[in-house]
Amino acid sequence: MENGKICQVKNLENEVGFGSTEFMIFRGKENLSGTDFIYYVTRTDYVRNAAVQAMTGTSGESTFYHAFEYLRMQRPKVLFLSVDGTDDHSHSGRYGEYLIYANKADQMIEEMWNWLQSQDDYNDKTTLIITTDHGRGKGSNRSWKTHGRWALGSNQIWMAVLGPDTPPLGEMKTNARYYQKQIAKTVASFLGMGYNNSRREVGEIIRPMLHPNTSSLTVTHSVVGEKTK
Ligand SMILES: [Zn+2]
Repeated sequence: MENGKICQVKNLENEVGFGSTEFMIFRGKENLSGTDFIYYVTRTDYVRNAAVQAMTGTSGESTFYHAFEYLRMQRPKVLFLSVDGTDDHSHSGRYGEYLIYANKADQMIEEMWNWLQSQDDYNDKTTLIITTDHGRGKGSNRSWKTHGRWALGSNQIWMAVLGPDTPPLGEMKTNARYYQKQIAKTVASFLGMGYNNSRREVGEIIRPMLHPNTSSLTVTHSVVGEKTK
């Protein structure tokens, strides 16, 4: 609906139609509105924008499928994708949906990885780095609904990396401390590029994510910031 795929069905053989979870059905109400009128109203931005706002649970999925479409059509070198189903539901305190969306995020990642591996221009040349914007927290029963100073442990995040330039070491816990701010430079190093930013502090490359033999990647040029000339 939010993408404008709206149609009107008329002249059904016995006047009976079936809906499903994939359809939203609208019809006129006697003495109040005609079905043609409902059809034209639902096609307006006014109704469609309101519908998008109300679809909190599907936001992560629609982001994913739009990004996936872009990936298929434009074949970028780098794609940054942020899905927020788990975040939406945990902030609203819906634990059941939170679990469902964690599972959906897993499925979306699997779908994307399998697709990447089926494409000649991406397979065995592509790295997926997956992480979170904040941790789940491990304090009181309510800390999973929020983050920040009062949600103990919410500053702890995890990172996963999968690709040809990464040693397959399984689940790791090291003594070193790594930060989110190190991801940008790490992503750049997978592309054989350097990364500098004159306005923000940039963290160092997360070395264990790369094979030792890729750790001396030639820095060909800077991606962002600091003027080199
Ligand atoms: Zn959040």
